[in-house]
Amino acid sequence: MIETLAVKKRRASNIYALLKSTYPNFQSPINYYQPHELLIANILLQYSSYEQVNMVTKTLYKKYQSIIDFAYCNLESLESDIGRIENHKQKAENIKQSCSIIIDDYKSVLPVSHDDLIKLPGIETDSANMMLSEIYNIPSLILDNHVKRIVTLLKFTRSHDLEKIRDDIAEIFEEMIWTKLTYLISKHGVQICIEIGPKCEMCILNKLCPSSSV
Ligand code: SF4
Repeated sequence: MIETLAVKKRRASNIYALLKSTYPNFQSPINYYQPHELLIANILLQYSSYEQVNMVTKTLYKKYQSIIDFAYCNLESLESDIGRIENHKQKAENIKQSCSIIIDDYKSVLPVSHDDLIKLPGIETDSANMMLSEIYNIPSLILDNHVKRIVTLLKFTRSHDLEKIRDDIAEIFEEMIWTKLTYLISKHGVQICIEIGPKCEMCILNKLCPSSSV
């Protein structure tokens, strides 16, 4: 049976309410204190998990305390400091270059433009979206692997194309909740709707999810 847009929106709204009550205090999956730290964490994130990145940055930010420390650091030392992260040599270079660009071209302030952010080495659309929403409070859809997988399971999209997925979500959910929504879905992906063997029997969404196995 085809679900009308109105019915889908009602289901979506109930799903959001349930996720919010399940993870009431959950904010960004990335730990950071200063804007440039969010930039660096996003560069580290490609092919890595939030947990791996948070673990590495915990000590990294004690050693490199400012954007200047990253921009003018010894590249080999930085490579070794992030050595536990996949593709660490390329990422170290991206971190150093991105920090230099922010200092030289943007007076050490992260640009507020998506187009400018994705020109930074190692920064792609969803990383730029996360920075815009976290630093500048601009609602954004941050499609990490968990979100892409779960919105498909929830039948909010049938597409594999990122821009189409974004459009499909944007049609169903109000813009003001986009950032929080994608964080909550991502959290649910880490805890319950895990990629291999989703725990449908424990899932608070199982009555609203067309892919539920219970
Ligand atoms: S019911 Fe199952 S498939 Fe649907 S969101 Fe929950 S864990 Fe994922």
